[in-house]
Amino acid sequence: MPAERILILGGTGLARELADRLVAESYDVETSLAGVTEHPHLPPGRIRRGGFGGVEGLREYLKVQSIRVLIDATHPFAAQMSRHAAEAAGDVPLLRLELPPWPAGPGWIIVHSIAEAVVALPPAAIPLVTIGRKEIAAFLTHTKTGVARMIENPDMEFPPGWTLLQARPPFTENDEIALMRQHRITHLVSKNSGGSATQAKITAARALRLPVIMVARPAKPGVPTFATAEEISSSLRRLLYS
Ligand code: NAP
Repeated sequence: MPAERILILGGTGLARELADRLVAESYDVETSLAGVTEHPHLPPGRIRRGGFGGVEGLREYLKVQSIRVLIDATHPFAAQMSRHAAEAAGDVPLLRLELPPWPAGPGWIIVHSIAEAVVALPPAAIPLVTIGRKEIAAFLTHTKTGVARMIENPDMEFPPGWTLLQARPPFTENDEIALMRQHRITHLVSKNSGGSATQAKITAARALRLPVIMVARPAKPGVPTFATAEEISSSLRRLLYS
C-alpha cells in the first residue's frame, strides 16, 4: 500500500520536528516553506518552496498531489496562511500544530499589533526587539537606541544607535540576562510565539524586572489543534487507520 501523503505547512522548528517524526513513521511527507528565509534549516522528506497562489492555488495543489491530510504547522503569527488552509482544505482533514502561548507574567503590556507595540515604547526606551526582519522598521525610527535580534540579515541600514544581532535560538537565561545588561535594555518586545527555545528572554526580563511588550496572537480559524508532534501522530493514526 502506498504511504499516505501528508502536506505540512512549515516554517517553524515544530514543523521540522513533525516532519522528522512522520518521515520516521513512513508517511510520504512534504513540507511547504514560504520561501522567505534564505538559509532555512530543512526538515527531512520532500520540500516545496513559495506560495500556492492563494486559496485556489492551495485547493488545486491538494487535489493534484492527492494530499490525504493537511497539517498547518506555520508560526502562530502566520495568520493568512492558516486562513487559506482552512478555506482550501474542503474534504481534506486539516490539523494544526501550534505551541501554546506563554502565559502572561508580571510587567507584561499586551498589545495586538506591531504598531501598538511601537506606540507602547517610551521614546527614551532602549528596547530589545525580537520580532523579525519584516516588521523591525517602525521601531528604528521610534527610539534612538535599541537592539534588534533576528535570524537572518534584514538587508537594511540600521541607525547608529541601534545594534543588529543575528542569532538562532535556543538561548539561555544567563546569556539573555548578560545581553540585556550589556546593552542597558529597558524593555523587551516580543511576539507571543510560545515554546522553550526562545522563552529565556521572558524569564530574563522578569529576573531584571523589565517591562515586556508582548504582541498577542492573531485569531486563527477553529481547527483541531495540537501542541506536540507526538499528539499529531496519534491523531493521524486515529484519522487514517481506525
Ligand atoms: P502569512 O502572512 O500567513 O502568509 C503570507 C503568504 O505567504 C501566504 O498567503 C502564502 O502565499 C505564503 N505562505 C506562508 N506560509 C507558507 C508556507 N508554509 N508554504 C507556502 N506558502 C506560504 O505568513 P508569514 O507570517 O509571512 O510567514 C511566512 C512563513 O514564515 C510561514 O511559513 C511561517 O510559518 C514562518 N514564520 C513566520 C513568523 C511570523 O512571525 N509571521 C515567524 C516565524 C516563522 P499564497 O497565498 O501565495 O499561498
